[in-house]
Amino acid sequence: MILSQHSLRQLDETYIRSLPENACQELAVKLLADLKTLHERANRNPDNSSMPPSSQLPWAMDRSDDGVCDEVVEAKESDDCELEDEPAKTNTEQRVSGGEIDGPKGNCVPIKRAPGKQPGAPGYGRSQQLPITDTVEHRVFCCDGCAGQFTEQDTQVAWTGYYTIDVEVGVPGIGVTNTKHVYYEASCPCGHVTRQHPHREASDALWEGIGLSEWRLVGPMLCTLIVSLSYRMRMSRSKIQEFLYDWLGIRLSTGTIQRCVEESARACAPVEDQLVEQVVNSGLVHADETTHKEKKTLLWVWVFATRFSVLYFIGQRSAEIIETLLGQSYCGWLMSDGYQVYRRYANRLRCWAHLLRKAKGLEESLDRKGQRFGKRTREILKTLINAVYQAREGPPPGDLKQIHAGLLKELRDLCETMKGGTHEKSRTLAGEFLNDWDAVFAVLSHPDLPLTNNEAERLLRHLVIVRRITYGTRSKNGTRALALLASVVETCRRREVSPWGYLARVIKARRCGQHIPELPVPASAS
Ligand SMILES: [Zn+2]
Repeated sequence: MILSQHSLRQLDETYIRSLPENACQELAVKLLADLKTLHERANRNPDNSSMPPSSQLPWAMDRSDDGVCDEVVEAKESDDCELEDEPAKTNTEQRVSGGEIDGPKGNCVPIKRAPGKQPGAPGYGRSQQLPITDTVEHRVFCCDGCAGQFTEQDTQVAWTGYYTIDVEVGVPGIGVTNTKHVYYEASCPCGHVTRQHPHREASDALWEGIGLSEWRLVGPMLCTLIVSLSYRMRMSRSKIQEFLYDWLGIRLSTGTIQRCVEESARACAPVEDQLVEQVVNSGLVHADETTHKEKKTLLWVWVFATRFSVLYFIGQRSAEIIETLLGQSYCGWLMSDGYQVYRRYANRLRCWAHLLRKAKGLEESLDRKGQRFGKRTREILKTLINAVYQAREGPPPGDLKQIHAGLLKELRDLCETMKGGTHEKSRTLAGEFLNDWDAVFAVLSHPDLPLTNNEAERLLRHLVIVRRITYGTRSKNGTRALALLASVVETCRRREVSPWGYLARVIKARRCGQHIPELPVPASAS
């Protein structure tokens, strides 16, 4: 923009009419340039620029797209957070009025209140009694004092126990189990009394207040079902509560549902190490990032995807994240956008879909030179894309860079010319090509590599919808839980293996203090 707001504020009709003709023309040229720039900005959309599809207003979206519209509508209806505990909505009046009361003159005044149980709201204890489907006896086998063995004939006394509600998924469907766990104590002739205890993992500073223990009301598969409803189906805690009671007859508090999600995430933490190793050792990584909010802090969700693994991180948008994950020495191919931190890696690829959209944006701009630049750039890119497709199908024709050296030189000369021009968008696109020239056209020498970063963008799409519905997470634990569960679930989905059986096995192993099972083998490799 040429004229600042400070200058614009001083301009009015009297001032313009007082100017001599020459000065008036000069001013008109500046105003025209600014007007064109503003029109171009107003005409930007996800089809002709780098704007993400989610930036479109809900009513501007194509309803036939893929149901995203419906999600956004739901986002307006639901103010529940997916990965954080929500206030226990026990007050029917507050639920009906959406947390607002009538202020003076009928205006709605939002109530500011802390999450959780409100003063005066009735508390609830567990009252539901389900029929017992199985009993598991945890007997003492060996004396903790003298190490003597107990036999089945030795008398043991039950000293504690608990119930675990779980679901069994199979043919012909889903069934509910309620298992009674009984723990025994035994007196040894040596005088020592030994008790059998349920396993409890040591507390972890990174997961403050989130325990991992066998002593749980909710079994591993039911935990997994809750994660599925929360993360994949994007249901709020209260809707999950409603679903479990209406369809399975299981009554759980929203607090218990929340703890199940957090415990599942903590159980998955060791899987992250396996995923990091697989990403670092892969020959091709797709990387992308989008915004995320934790309370009022703006953070970034990063995704790193290989052929069979997906890893999400939520943190700052800084070089640190990349350095921590890939290190300085990563030598595989890295497909990314034009963000500077990626430029330190030698084997880089750029997404051509982004460049094509930007060129289309130029073609639709108001600047004649810009229009010609955009049109020619698109033509050249499309010719090269066809050449890449042909090279993938047929016998190798040789290095496409040399075959199309003439086109590449033409584009480079165009970019050099436009780089010094007056049109802002043309300058930006020309600069983008010139800065990343090798990364953009590396695919011509290696036509088997991808042309777009759609893999990573598709993997961020689900989280963008989650963000819109939940308005982000509300705590560090909630943010970590989101990234970890997303990594495990999307990795399994990428391997065409159901994530839920694996997640249940991980939760079960971690509750008992055992090693987690290896990630499932990709369906196509087995
Ligand atoms: Zn003993």
